[in-house]
Amino acid sequence: MMDLKFDQTHIWHPYTSLTKPLPVYPVSRAYENKIVLEDGRYLIDGMSSWWAAIHGYNHPELNQAIHSQTEKMSHVMFGGLTHQPAIDLCKKLVELTPAGLDKVFLADSGSISVEVAIKMAVQYWHSEGKPQKSKLLTVRNGYHGDTFAAMSVCDPVNGMHNLFNKVLQKHHFVESPAAGFKQSFTPEAMVEMESRLARYHNEIAAIIIEPIVQGAGGMRFYHPQYLTELKRLCERYDVLLIADEIATGFGRTGKLFACEWANISPDILCLGKALTGGYMTLAATLTTEKVANGICKGQAGVFMHGPTFMGNPLACAVANAAISLLFKNDWALQVKQIENWLNEWLQPLADYPQVDEVRVLGAIGVVELKNPVDMQKIQAHFVDCGVWIRPFGRLVYLMPPYISQRADIKRLAKAIKSWLECPNDKTEG
Ligand code: PMP
Repeated sequence: MMDLKFDQTHIWHPYTSLTKPLPVYPVSRAYENKIVLEDGRYLIDGMSSWWAAIHGYNHPELNQAIHSQTEKMSHVMFGGLTHQPAIDLCKKLVELTPAGLDKVFLADSGSISVEVAIKMAVQYWHSEGKPQKSKLLTVRNGYHGDTFAAMSVCDPVNGMHNLFNKVLQKHHFVESPAAGFKQSFTPEAMVEMESRLARYHNEIAAIIIEPIVQGAGGMRFYHPQYLTELKRLCERYDVLLIADEIATGFGRTGKLFACEWANISPDILCLGKALTGGYMTLAATLTTEKVANGICKGQAGVFMHGPTFMGNPLACAVANAAISLLFKNDWALQVKQIENWLNEWLQPLADYPQVDEVRVLGAIGVVELKNPVDMQKIQAHFVDCGVWIRPFGRLVYLMPPYISQRADIKRLAKAIKSWLECPNDKTEG
């Protein structure tokens, strides 16, 4: 048996207290879309381990990619050396991502790829002789990671900026895109953004935004036209556009990259999470020739970043296999089917009095409640139902692995339905 007492008293879990820890469930293994608990129960996964495990767990082809790479080398430094897995991966990323993004920096996690993106933007304007262009502009309800620069562009309230007030850089925030994905878009949506740009473009290096889906900041889906207009404004006011596709990349929204909904290419793109099929931590920041050349002609002559595990060969090898699997499995069909099933099973939940809204886009389903859930109770309920769903705040949401079948989605939705029907929730809602 795992030593849960030790876990509770010595190990931080994400966003948890060590003095009042919430229960954690010991996992002994995982396969396909199933998470097996130490006591033998198995849970149908509704989370893809936070957008990452799109092909499910313990996949023979992904395992094989790691095994074969381990026998060649697990790691070598990337300074002064290179290797086939990194070259193959970067070629694929250049080919698959929106046009013009053909210079790749391999970073070690999503947050770091955001740090890298911000550094690229700042270094670019420095080289262009405009060092005063060093601020960022973003929208409320965003989420870009937990490191300091990334945190500085997360929603100021959700991101608890007041806690880190003295350390965080101050950036520009405007209201988040109001129109939902399927609502009608009106030009007024851009008024605040445009006036902020008109006034402050001389000090703004870049706009950073999650395209189409604002994830951890509220699971909001917004209108593609917003993104089209944003790109136009960036060009007009000479500001770079950073698209954070760490969560949305690799098919999740129904397009390979969410930027495709608006047919735009950002100047800088961040990828992570599903990049390795959720096997290992790896991220990438891609940019254009214009930005790369700008950076390299500047005072430093180089891009100032180089982590120890940059381009880790194991991570690159499994990323290559994960990308191949996407196409072998016909990701577009997988995601479309999941979207249909999510609509079929989640939309009816909108009729429950505790539910504010149900929304589905691609392989993402969100049941937004009127009041926050009691995490401990709802988590225990879901585990009792044989599913793994991890809500936050008022949001109960699903982003299941692409290999999920109709019966799996039905079971996940039924677990949410039974929560809405159980007396526990009534006390909350
Ligand atoms: N950006 C977005 C949009 C994310 O969803 C996340 C992770 N939830 C990050 C950045 C940070 O990635 P990581 O947790 O790998 O640092």
